[in-house]
Amino acid sequence: MKTVTNTCDFCKEVIPEDDQIWYLGLYCSHKQFTHHTALTKTLQQEACRACTEKFRLIPFAQKKSEEPPMPTDAEKLEAVIYDIVGNAVADQLRDQQRT
Ligand SMILES: [Zn+2]
Repeated sequence: MKTVTNTCDFCKEVIPEDDQIWYLGLYCSHKQFTHHTALTKTLQQEACRACTEKFRLIPFAQKKSEEPPMPTDAEKLEAVIYDIVGNAVADQLRDQQRT
């Protein structure tokens, strides 16, 4: 029997099987060729719903009365890039320590 465990790349918590997994990454598309898209999968990360909400990337989940002001799109992107790059650097350092 094979058991698959999904772990959030941001908080490192195990994502329950019936919970949502979100893919966060950088998306690249040429304006004139919208039918061809490319996702930079080397920067793609899997996130739990809580982390995706923390980055405020789920618009319909942002209706709480005491929420801080909405971050701008640039702030959202900056937060995601910061975590993705941070994870990539941590992985690289871990790989270097193994060798
Ligand atoms: Zn998470």
